[in-house]
Amino acid sequence: MILHIDMDAFFASIEQAINPRLKGKPLIVGSRESRLHTVVCAASYEAKAMGIDSGMPSAEAFKICPNLEFVSADQSKYIWASEQIFELLKGYGFEAANASIDEFQMDIKDTPGPASLAQEIQKEIHQTFKITASIGIAKNSLLAKLASKINKPNGIAVLTPENLEQILAKVPAKKLRGVGPKTSLLLASLGIETCLDLYKKSPSFLEQFLGKHGLNMYAELHSTEHFDASKDDSETKSVGHSYTLPRASENTGFIRAWLRLLSEMVGARLRQQNLAARTIHLWLNGPEIPGFGAQRTLQEPTNDSYEICLHAQRIMAKTGQKMPKIRAMGVTCSTLSKVNYLPLFNEQKRREGLLKTMDKINAKLGDWSIYPAVIHLARQKS
Ligand SMILES: [Mg+2]
Repeated sequence: MILHIDMDAFFASIEQAINPRLKGKPLIVGSRESRLHTVVCAASYEAKAMGIDSGMPSAEAFKICPNLEFVSADQSKYIWASEQIFELLKGYGFEAANASIDEFQMDIKDTPGPASLAQEIQKEIHQTFKITASIGIAKNSLLAKLASKINKPNGIAVLTPENLEQILAKVPAKKLRGVGPKTSLLLASLGIETCLDLYKKSPSFLEQFLGKHGLNMYAELHSTEHFDASKDDSETKSVGHSYTLPRASENTGFIRAWLRLLSEMVGARLRQQNLAARTIHLWLNGPEIPGFGAQRTLQEPTNDSYEICLHAQRIMAKTGQKMPKIRAMGVTCSTLSKVNYLPLFNEQKRREGLLKTMDKINAKLGDWSIYPAVIHLARQKS
């Protein structure tokens, strides 16, 4: 069995946990410091209840709720919390992997009483970090992720052979990872409305109408394979971060801001481990570009977030579209090597000094106190 642990309103919950004044209040986390000129990165449940959600311009959110609390996103805090949660989960002794900054999976094999184990995990996370998680339990990764969304927030859902069909019948097929609006329209035309309809189709049927994508979906839905926990190897092979937006967006500023935030997170993580990468991989998912992935190999390894982001943007251009609608994105760096050279050129020295100082300031002051202006530029151009 796989346990999928999804933190509830992660960034917003962390801010509320750290600052008790924000607890119980509608709160948004913005991608930049200016409260009226940013986009909502995360909304607390109190804000969600008013109809505020990620992807919305903050000005619109403030119109809905003038008393909205605002915090600008602080990547170092979220990475730290994510790493601490991952350590806590590994303490349970099962194979564990982080699926994204706020989602984790554990392969609990045939451990009896998975629901009470999930309760125990929720309790420990809450006691340690004062934030909540929703947990889905199922025979494979994809269904466990789906289950984690069913009783949000702070919920548990177990998909057993007995209740599987009953639950899948209630979930629209478009809620499944990998099913964008285009696929979901196609599915609807084939009479497939719910996850159960999809689950019951044969692999040959899905291949006939959806090609390889259909076959993959079949395999993911029906697999009982244990997930690959190789990400947890002591020797880091890749460093990546991904994020799923609550709905597809083609807002250039918002997408670029997220691309920059993910690149910043990846770069900071590489620098923490004194690593540099030669391969940069961008993964995108959206209705027009389902499961798009491409990479670039660099001449020289880098751990400079700005450079990583520039390459990610160039890869994005390979979609052949100015700004495709995007639902989820991920930036991963691989072909890693230890940084053991001294900067040769003055420009390189200056740049490295700048990054080190930025990392130090952010580590010390916590808040995303020092901030790459390129995000502002990206938004002005849009
Ligand atoms: Mg989450």
